[in-house]
Amino acid sequence: STFISLALSPQIVRAVEERNYTAPTPIQSAVIPGVLSGRDVWACAHTGSGKTAAFVLPLLQRYSQARRETPRPVRSLILVPTRELAAQVGASVESYARYLPDPIKVATVFGGVSINPQMMALRGGADIVVATPGRLLDLVEHNALSLRSVATLVLDEADRLLDLGFTDELAQVLSLLPERRQNLLFSATFPPEVDALAETLLRDPLRVDV
Ligand code: AMP
Repeated sequence: STFISLALSPQIVRAVEERNYTAPTPIQSAVIPGVLSGRDVWACAHTGSGKTAAFVLPLLQRYSQARRETPRPVRSLILVPTRELAAQVGASVESYARYLPDPIKVATVFGGVSINPQMMALRGGADIVVATPGRLLDLVEHNALSLRSVATLVLDEADRLLDLGFTDELAQVLSLLPERRQNLLFSATFPPEVDALAETLLRDPLRVDV
């Protein structure tokens, strides 16, 4: 397939072409239509598979249609296990979003650094939040953001999220999200804990294992 045939907007296709992606990777071809159709997704995905664009591009596609509101309600929440991955995913979102006609606001938040600049960055809201779980909960406690408008939750590297001991934080975050939402779970491995999480989180998921 091509990025155009995946029903992505010309602005998004332009951004990926500028990065010299000639065609979608297998996981992108499988996941993007599923996300666009609103389904939950269960994806077995290794680093290097192109998994980041597989969830970021269809999320952005939604913003190319959405109406703007002020303050911006958080519609997409991407949870990641580490600050390095947060920074990397946040940068990818910015890069793929660069030609959208209506610029989106991305907030990337993680622990181990001062919370104040992150609170400032969240003033006026954000369209997409990329976060590690602990810092996300700190920010909610400080009333720096609300998760009540989240329409899509992405768990990236879910196996590492659980390995690193984020099980309780994850449960807390889930309790703050609207019941009705889309869930996308990406994991390189599926030990019993990740299977159990997928079981409780996902409704009739599209399963992708490429
Ligand atoms: P990821 O698996 O998301 O960490 O992506 C691995 C690498 O593949 C990153 O450097 C991406 O920029 C790159 N990449 C993602 N999608 C494509 C594509 N369709 N064609 C070529 N490279 C890609």
